[in-house]
Amino acid sequence: MEDKRIKIMELDKRELERWMESIGYEPYRASQVRNWIFQRYVDSFFNMHNIPKRLREFLNENAILHPLRLKERLISKDGTQKYIFMAEDRSFIESVLIPERDHYTLCVSSQVGCSMGCIFCLTGKRGLKRDLSASEILDQIVQVKRDMKSPEKLRNIVFMGMGEPLLNYSNLKQALKNILYQDGMNFSKRRVTISTCGIIPKMKRLGKDFRVNLAVSLNAPDEEKRSYLMPINRRYPLRELMEACKIYPLQKGRRITFEYVLIKGINDEIEDAERLVQTLSGIKAKVNLIPFNPFNGSSLRPPTPDRIERFQKHLIKNHITALIRKSKGSDIYAACGQLGGK
Ligand code: SAH
Ligand code: SF4
Repeated sequence: MEDKRIKIMELDKRELERWMESIGYEPYRASQVRNWIFQRYVDSFFNMHNIPKRLREFLNENAILHPLRLKERLISKDGTQKYIFMAEDRSFIESVLIPERDHYTLCVSSQVGCSMGCIFCLTGKRGLKRDLSASEILDQIVQVKRDMKSPEKLRNIVFMGMGEPLLNYSNLKQALKNILYQDGMNFSKRRVTISTCGIIPKMKRLGKDFRVNLAVSLNAPDEEKRSYLMPINRRYPLRELMEACKIYPLQKGRRITFEYVLIKGINDEIEDAERLVQTLSGIKAKVNLIPFNPFNGSSLRPPTPDRIERFQKHLIKNHITALIRKSKGSDIYAACGQLGGK
């Protein structure tokens, strides 16, 4: 039977105000409830102490507070934590909390699986099960915050977990409103990054709608190699992708992050680095080099550290900022491209 309860987390302020009025309560109750959800991470409607008892009971019967249930929390040797949630349909959803020097970054999922089939990505190998709802996207953040000792230390949200966020655009958009707006979680635009394999039309919409940070999974310096590694390149070719990057409306002083998974013998030659320099010319770019994380069933391997460094040096020599991103949490399968492997 279809669940008729409203998903309260994904309504924006206006929508919840209207709903409150429709059931005979004053609109300011919406702000109170939203404060309990987004600022105090309450686990039950019954703990919303300034809400009249009758309304709490009504909410409990007619609204869903948390669509996800926390199933497991794994802690890596390096401090990275993987949260495994279960949705109402028993799908598993993973989020990864990464400690930085004085704050945390949370990597969230946007879909169960992914339909893009990039050959180096375990999530992609498993295919797509379904999109996440806006509430399911938001609840990952809310529940991780509730679990943290100092929730205010969660500073960055990156959509680099399972799935292609721009293929779930309407739910992403609805979730972003409550992540960014002041009456929701109030994250700064500069602290939210959407990573995409290059869904060009939606990149344009994202730029118009929110102007958050953009990361593009590039992974290859030319059309041929990119089409081999990432089938989406046949639909949205590199040349057009770079044009779309050139016009993306960045925040002042910001650059687009280009992710480049280095794979031994495939995209790690100096010639690849040189072509990458050319591909990125004229774009405000920085490059994250991610040594390939191996997984069962894949014969791909990361290059040796000296070849990784050689690649990086070539970019730097050509005035491109390039960082080597050692993926964290690989011992708990929380590293880039390893999610959803259970
Ligand atoms: N679908 C979006 C969001 C997921 S981000 C996107 O592709 O951008 C996941 C990141 O992990 C991507 O940058 C991808 O290039 C990287 N990745 C995937 N598989 C990996 C692997 N096996 N090792 C290292 N990085 C990987
Ligand atoms: Fe999907 Fe991104 Fe993995 Fe490609 S890299 S399969 S787009 S999650």
